[in-house]
Amino acid sequence: MKGVETIADLRTRCDDARRRGATVGLVPTMGFFHAGHRSLMELARAETDLVVVSSFVNPTQFAAGEDLDAYPRDTERDDAIARAVGVDVMFSPAVTEMYPDGSPTTTVHVAQLTDGMCGAARPGHFDGVTTVVAKLFSIVGPCRAYFGRKDFQQLAVVRRMVRDLDLPVVVVGAPLVRESDGLALSSRNAYLTAPERSAAPALHRALLAAVTRLDAGTRDAASLVDVVRRAVAEEPVLALEYVEVRRSSDLASISELEGEFVIAVAAQVGRARLIDNVVVVIDSSGAVADLGVRVADGPSTAGTS
Ligand code: AMP
Repeated sequence: MKGVETIADLRTRCDDARRRGATVGLVPTMGFFHAGHRSLMELARAETDLVVVSSFVNPTQFAAGEDLDAYPRDTERDDAIARAVGVDVMFSPAVTEMYPDGSPTTTVHVAQLTDGMCGAARPGHFDGVTTVVAKLFSIVGPCRAYFGRKDFQQLAVVRRMVRDLDLPVVVVGAPLVRESDGLALSSRNAYLTAPERSAAPALHRALLAAVTRLDAGTRDAASLVDVVRRAVAEEPVLALEYVEVRRSSDLASISELEGEFVIAVAAQVGRARLIDNVVVVIDSSGAVADLGVRVADGPSTAGTS
């Protein structure tokens, strides 16, 4: 694996690879890898020739008062994980490499899809994400880019940006990876104390309660929201931020449930802001829920006490 720190070096490597007829796979991350990141790298490894992972804690997607400075980092461990998967290039630029003139004056804003859900609580967050992802797409060039369905709104926003701007990138959405007890893997799980870590899977259980309600025939969004709210309220350590039911394709709010939609939640648990979701498809045969996949080998991000 080659460590790359400059935009020019990365651009040259990707251009050279394509000139040789190779395909390029890009996995954008903020580092501190867990099995969710690893699954994206494995997918890119299986589907493309030159696998590039970017590891950049992007300051422009953190609002004032968020955890930019505290965001966990472990580059040695990250390198070992990426190397084991067979990643070809680890791109770890300095902030000054990505933003030599300070905050960029040109930004990418995806309207509508960024309204509500995480966009409501994190002003400017998605502009930071789409701007840095657009920069990465510009540097890497034509590629397949891998994003997790855990950040469902982010995935929908990036897909829309690519469509609207005709960027030469195929966006691939990968399954949400969970701990064996259902907690969605997140670098921020490292913030959880032991009691918070024990309580956190209640967020996933609340989504399962909504799926049970769907299986029983419920077809209105308001009662699903109610079921999730009540389930989360049973666990006092979880401070629910939102529960929303949105159409998958454009994240429009829906009340009558049909086609494909997402039930998405966010909650504050101690210092950690956790998100989770379940994607559901309703057709004539009933409701089919995508609950993601569970890691087979137990928790990979232990809570701290
Ligand atoms: P992050 O480093 O948190 O910015 O995440 C980098 C990429 O990994 C994003 O595309 C995320 O959606 C994805 N990701 C993070 N956690 C998970 C997870 N539990 N399952 C699947 N993908 C994930």
